[in-house]
Amino acid sequence: MPQPDAIVIGSGPNGLAAAITLAQAGWKVTVFEAERTIGGGARSAELTLPGFQHDICSAVHAMAAASPFLRTLPLQKYGLEFIEPEAQLAHPFDDGTAAVVERSVEQTAAGLGRDRAAYVRLFGGLVRSWPRLERAALGPVTWPRYPVSLAAFGLRALRPAERLARSLFVEQRTRALFGAISAHGMLPLDRSLTAGFGLVLGAMAHLVGWVMPRGGAQKLTDALVAHLATLGGEVVANHRIASLDELPPARAVLCDLSPRPFLRVAGQRLPSGYRRSLERYRYGMGVFKVDWALDGPIPWRAGECARAGTVHVCGTLEEVVQSERNAWTGLVPERPFVLLVQPTLFDSSRAPAGKHIAWAYCHVPAGSTADMLPRIEAQIERFAPGFRDRVLARSVMNPADIEAHNANLIAGDIGSGVVDLRQFFTRPTWRTYSTPVRGLYICSAATPPGVGVHGMCGYFAAQRAIADARA
Ligand SMILES: Cc1cc2nc3c(=O)[nH]c(=O)nc-3n(C[C@H](O)[C@H](O)[C@H](O)COP(=O)(O)OP(=O)(O)OC[C@H]3O[C@@H](n4cnc5c(N)ncnc54)[C@H](O)[C@@H]3O)c2cc1C
Repeated sequence: MPQPDAIVIGSGPNGLAAAITLAQAGWKVTVFEAERTIGGGARSAELTLPGFQHDICSAVHAMAAASPFLRTLPLQKYGLEFIEPEAQLAHPFDDGTAAVVERSVEQTAAGLGRDRAAYVRLFGGLVRSWPRLERAALGPVTWPRYPVSLAAFGLRALRPAERLARSLFVEQRTRALFGAISAHGMLPLDRSLTAGFGLVLGAMAHLVGWVMPRGGAQKLTDALVAHLATLGGEVVANHRIASLDELPPARAVLCDLSPRPFLRVAGQRLPSGYRRSLERYRYGMGVFKVDWALDGPIPWRAGECARAGTVHVCGTLEEVVQSERNAWTGLVPERPFVLLVQPTLFDSSRAPAGKHIAWAYCHVPAGSTADMLPRIEAQIERFAPGFRDRVLARSVMNPADIEAHNANLIAGDIGSGVVDLRQFFTRPTWRTYSTPVRGLYICSAATPPGVGVHGMCGYFAAQRAIADARA
């Protein structure tokens, strides 16, 4: 192999974003990927039956569409097309109705009864100020360019989602809607910062939509790899790096790894103090995921659910709070909060004619071996009677299976580590992307801004490597 300037270990969206950033700066880059398929958390496969194209990990790509780095790349040229569902999100209730997040703030608010004005104030304001906030929300902590906007946002974002929902909204439906969006953060909703997830993800529904790549998440990865190739970079799949000692010499090595696999690969090179801080890095709850091949669309009782790409299946705010608290404290949620995506209502390319797929997961205690399939399906049946009769085949992944698919996701923690107050600002240590070893960096979702398919961790880590090389 010709000697590269930089090596990236791992081909997740952050690894590929790092590789592209370095290649744009004229560096020759090689990416090594352990698995046979490229893309880490952004991959698709026929998990159930031939012709049914499921997303193994990420399904909804609002963060990719909103990413200040990814949106600068000519990915459409390489086949990436985002599909926007008619409605972004539906949240059904036991009375057969649903709250719906539309692309428009006003249209969404119109369905929220007495919370109409409060919703417009909250999300209308956020959407307007987003251009001033996005760098702070999707990057490392730096001196803010717009301190007033950031302070106003920060004061809300730092609050527990449950408290913010109860203080801003009076309708049970709006409270449940906001709480469930916030629960994407994989923390109990009485924790500081959980409102931040609800605010950022809620704003993205209005800003760019909760979009999906036509054909599935793999199409985003394929477009990134194709663009990297035009810049002279290459990806070597099915090549697990066990130790840095295996690598040819390079100016920089960027690891798309969370701390535990990073320690396995680089531990012997690291000073003991830094190693200990990485050992203290905390992983959070796990995920139990199900993919279905379906004979027809999901028969939701609330018709609005059929307009939405994503459906939050759980009922009231109290139920979401209970489900997340249980998963966090090691108890198996009996009525789990289920995040469900139904791509084929908007993208017929992913299943044979007339057939459908659905993707869903719920949070469970880290490493849980509980079989959540009956509980997840019972929750869906609750709001879509007859769902089970439409199932042609299922694929099920518990936390151990999820970690087996991707070494970064310890005990099924799809966030590559808890995103609480401490690990938000110092992720994975106060050094963020840098390490005490010259030329060695971490570029995974275990660095700012954390979880999601946005590539920003990779972009910032690569920027740091380029700056260090110039110094
Ligand atoms: C079930 C699930 C659902 C999700 N849903 C969404 C969603 O809808 N929207 C969203 O935005 N995000 C979602 N995410 C999160 C998102 O996928 C991740 O945050 C994102 O992929 C992180 O990217 P990354 O590049 O940091 O790491 P990863 O995507 O984890 O990639 C790391 C890569 O490194 C490779 N690797 C590990 N060890 C080695 C080694 N020793 N040698 C070589 N290669 C190695 C891995 O195989 C992997 O390919 C989901 C994740 C999961 C698991």
